[in-house]
Order: sequence, then structure tokens, then C-alpha cells
Amino acid sequence: MNTHPPLSNIQARDVEALLHPYTPIHRLRETGPLMIERGKGVFVYDTRGKEYIEGMSGLWCAGLGFGEEELVEAAAEQMRALPYYHLFGAKGMEPAVELAEKLKEIAPVPISKVFFTSSGSEANDTQVKLAWYMNNAMGRPNKKKIISRQKAYHGVTIMSASLTGLPYNHMGWDLPVDRVLHTDCPHHYRFGHDGESEAEFTARIVQSLSDLIERERPDTIAAMIAEPVMGAGGVIVPPAGYYPAVKEVLDRHDIIMIDDEVINGFCRTGEWWGCQSLGMTPTTISAAKQMTAAYAPLGAVMVPEDIYQAYVDHSRQIGTFGHGFTYGGHPLGCALGVKAIEIYQKRDILGHVRSLAPVFAARLDALKQHPLVGEVRYCGLVGGVELVADKATKRPFDGKKGVGAQVAKILEGHGLILRAIGDTIALCPPMIITEAELNELFDRLEKGLADGEALVS
Ligand code: PLP
Repeated sequence: MNTHPPLSNIQARDVEALLHPYTPIHRLRETGPLMIERGKGVFVYDTRGKEYIEGMSGLWCAGLGFGEEELVEAAAEQMRALPYYHLFGAKGMEPAVELAEKLKEIAPVPISKVFFTSSGSEANDTQVKLAWYMNNAMGRPNKKKIISRQKAYHGVTIMSASLTGLPYNHMGWDLPVDRVLHTDCPHHYRFGHDGESEAEFTARIVQSLSDLIERERPDTIAAMIAEPVMGAGGVIVPPAGYYPAVKEVLDRHDIIMIDDEVINGFCRTGEWWGCQSLGMTPTTISAAKQMTAAYAPLGAVMVPEDIYQAYVDHSRQIGTFGHGFTYGGHPLGCALGVKAIEIYQKRDILGHVRSLAPVFAARLDALKQHPLVGEVRYCGLVGGVELVADKATKRPFDGKKGVGAQVAKILEGHGLILRAIGDTIALCPPMIITEAELNELFDRLEKGLADGEALVS
């Protein structure tokens, strides 16, 4: 029996017309979508006028919140001057140049060239193609496999979904494709053995990576891809020392490290880049989301000079560099990227994230007392609260119960939008959030968890 209120007119039109991403579409006709109409600062409002704190910055991307007039102005100005152009066939335009220069300036390692895409998935797809292209150019045609990790999220195109290590992205989709290997997820709480310290856990999973490479043969492996703090896999913060140890193994076998900064980049983790917070040394970098504060779609791949030179050699042999997207480097996205980075810098968003991070951490730590909470995890202003059936044994809830999703729904009732990743409730508020708003967010979260307790008891 449907116990939900009848759908409003706009909800009914929605379910008739749209196929919704990452949604249990078999139930959508009963629950209806939450229709958001407008936003201001950290708040969004639904079509019934109810206010929500958008505690996920949309999809980990609207880092400057909603209704930022400087971005709106920059967009309007660019649209008037040049609403569309491209970079194919040796064409160029200033917004793309400016943004590429800016990215080179702030990149965590020396970068020679920036390739623009329309999304994070396209950026990671491009990374794989570029690793193959590079190894073909270097006369290593067998060095093509890519190592990713269980629970990683790298996107949904055929290759990026293959890199993703989550069941929903593979089940029913005939994925992953060949040439993709998945190694251990660096989550000590979930995958550490009884009594195993973080250091012992790290040593074990890095050895397992090394064994995988030996088994598959190093001359068949091109790259490893890793997101420093694993966002959509459940906000997993690897143990200290994990990335340097991984890097040592990769360097031994001439395997490059692709750093997926799609969520982590642009101040989110308390540094400009997640790799800087976690001690990772990238070879190449993917960026998207907060690069434009999500006011327009844009992705980027950044590569160092030696790798770029391999593409040049190959282009010389083949006749051109045969890759590019119609909207890659769209002038609107690039103009917004330039403006967003300018705002991050002039308003010292990094300093603001750093000043709020201890408050964020303290309020998350306090949730550890809650009977449903198994672990809390955080880095900068991104965090996760893992709900468990039994705190002592870390026993998870039966996945079919959808406890995380039910709690997320309860939170909506309290005017808070967060995302359930399985039974982990993720938090990624706009980086402009004030301390008072952040405390209000946690007050609403605590109320929702209290209701959630009744739900499972
Ligand atoms: N990489 C990471 C780390 C992501 O979190 C995402 C999206 O959430 C992607 C890649 C894919 O980006 P997009 O959805 O723009 O294709």
C-alpha cells in the first residue's frame, strides 16, 4: 500500500517524463522526487517552499553554494561575448587559455598541458585513453591495464564505470571491461582484521597490490587510479603512510599514478588538492565539479611535460591527436572556472575550510556516542557517518533494509539534504558555510539520527 502523500502536479509530470540517475526508479511513482526550485547560500527550497540545508553541495560540487552573483555575472558576460566555441583543429579562445594557465599555477605537481572535457567521467575515460596512447607512443603496446580499488568511484562511462569498484555500477551493465584490475580498499575500520593496527593493515594491502602487479606482470600495467579521500565510495580516508607506500610499489614498476581530484580538488580537504592532504604524489590529475563551483559542466585532465611529449611524438606518426569532446573546454565552463578559482583565492576559501574543519571534526566525533554510529570519518569539510546494527562487532545492517536511505529521508523532513551511500551518511557542505550554519546542520542531523534510532529498534 502506498503510504506516501499524493504526488504534486510537477512531481507527477516528472515521473512521467524523466529517467532519474541513481534512483530506485521502481518506487519513484510512489515516493515522487523532491523537487528543488531555487537556492541561496547553503540553502535550497522545494516547490512547496520548504527550506533545506544542502549538506552535500548538490553532488559534492556546489562549493560556493547557490546564487553566487559573481559567478552569475561572469556567466552572463561570457555568454554575451562568445556563447560557444571549441578547441578542435587548432582553434582557441581566451577563457580556455586563462583557465589552463590558472590550473598550471595551482597544480600540486608540475603540469605542462591541460585537456578539457565536459565531466569527471570523461576526464577519467580520457586518462585511460591517454595512458594507452602514451604507452603505444613509447613502444610498450602491452602496458595497458589500469589498477583501481574496490569501492572507488570514478564515473559512469563504460571505462570510468569499469574503474569504479561499486556493485551497482557493474551489476546488470556487463562491466567491468577487460584491462581493469581492482585492488584493496584502504578502509581500516571495514577491512582491517581483528587486532590489526592501521600500520599493519596498510602494509598488508600494499603487499597485496605488489602481489597483484607481479601476478599480472608489471609490463602489462600502465597506471593506477586513486581518489585521495574516496568520496562516493563512502568517504574513506586511507591511513597515514598508505599513498607513499603505494607510490614506492608503482615507481618500482614504472606505473603512473592518476589522481582523481574530481571531489577532493579546490580546497575541499583543507588543501587545494586532496593529494596534498593525504601525501599522494600524482603523475596526472583529473578535476571537475568544484572547478566551476558546479555552475557549468567542465572536466580537466592535467599532464606533465614528459608525458605530453609522448603524445606529440605519436601525433607526428599518426598525423593528429585524435581525441576531443564537442563541449570540452566550453567557454562558459572555462569562464566560470576562472571566476570560481578567483573567488576561492580572494575570499580565502581555503583558510575558511581550515578554520571550520575542527568544528566539523568535533561535531562528527561527538556522533560516535550515538548507538547507531559505528565510525565517523572526515578530512577538511568532507565527512561520513557509518551506521551499523552492532557497534561492538561492527556488524552492518542487512543491506535490503536500506537504513541509510531511510535516515536520509528522515533528515529531509528535518530540512537537511545529505546523501546515503549504503549505510554511510555523507556530508560535503558548501565551503562557504558559516560556523552557525554548520552547527545548525549538525543539530538537524542529530535530530534525524534520534528518529532513525526508533526506526531500527
Ligand atoms: N570521479 C569522482 C571521484 C567522482 O566523485 C565523480 C562523480 O561523482 C566522477 C569522477 C564522475 O564525474 P561526473 O559525474 O562529472 O562524470
